[in-house]
Amino acid sequence: HAKNHGKGHLAEFNAQLGADSLRRMAMERKLKEAVRRDEFFLNFQPQFDLASRRIVGVEVLLRWQNEELGLVPPGQFIPVAEQSRIILDIGHWVLEQAMVQNLAWARAGLPMLPMAVNLSALQVHQHDLDEQIASLLRQHAYPADRLELELTESVIMDNAIPVRRQLEQLRRSGVRISIDDFGTGYSNLGYLSRFPLDVLKIDRSFVTDIHVRPQQQPIVQSIVQLARAFGLQLVAEGVEREAELDFLADLGVERVQGFLLARPMSAQQMAELLAAQQDLACQAGRP
Ligand code: C2E
Ligand code: MG
Ligand code: MG
Ligand code: MG
Repeated sequence: HAKNHGKGHLAEFNAQLGADSLRRMAMERKLKEAVRRDEFFLNFQPQFDLASRRIVGVEVLLRWQNEELGLVPPGQFIPVAEQSRIILDIGHWVLEQAMVQNLAWARAGLPMLPMAVNLSALQVHQHDLDEQIASLLRQHAYPADRLELELTESVIMDNAIPVRRQLEQLRRSGVRISIDDFGTGYSNLGYLSRFPLDVLKIDRSFVTDIHVRPQQQPIVQSIVQLARAFGLQLVAEGVEREAELDFLADLGVERVQGFLLARPMSAQQMAELLAAQQDLACQAGRP
């Protein structure tokens, strides 16, 4: 930007750079305190079985509420937390809180659905991630098959062999592995046969307006075929319109997530939604 625009622009450019890195440093300082100050909380977004429209899973989404910064979106604070490695502590906190929440729901008589937790690359590259998770599962007596780990393709691709061993270990214990934002990362699909996987999540960019964008349709069709060939479950994310849903149903996608069906919500709201669904099921079951 500053190139070829003279000294004034260059100074402005440098000032901007300085302001950005100052903002980052300030955010980093606040993030370091945030776990202790109890500034994080979780939101939950249900995943639905497309055919029955019943809730079959829940994705956990991290939220940060800071006194000065307000509610900061994860797209802004997670990169900063990764750069400073604070994400390791935060990520551990998310895993534990997700388990604690799901167990609390189960104790309240609600169905215990699989909880999908997003992992950052740094977390997966810890040599003891499998032990950390195994220890959390033991400590809380949390059933491993109610935990799904969401990773992106790029996490799997770099440093692939140690990551594969970790995932194999986790999967042997019953934990499920899901590839998030599928289709946006690497075009080398060889990892699909080498890695122990359970779920592909079709990225929102392929889902949005699929009914009016014919060039997207063969992409989603291919992803559906890939999932079938490798025996993986499919989730389409970012469904905002009824017409998109119809299209996904025709293509054979089973599970969907998106603002059309439910936005990310508080634990309290999620509990109410699960309870309402349970009541409906009871009524339907009555003679
Ligand atoms: P993601 O894992 O792909 O999560 C889906 C994002 O899409 C969420 O944004 C969700 O609110 C949003 N979304 C869901 N349905 C719709 C829809 O119909 N339309 C649109 N426009 N958006 C929809 P959110 O909560 O802002 O999270 C953004 C990203 O931050 C996540 O993308 C994930 O990569 C990351 N993230 C969130 N929580 C965590 C966490 O605990 N740990 C790590 N490492 N990353 C996290
Ligand atoms: Mg995700
Ligand atoms: Mg995603
Ligand atoms: Mg994403």
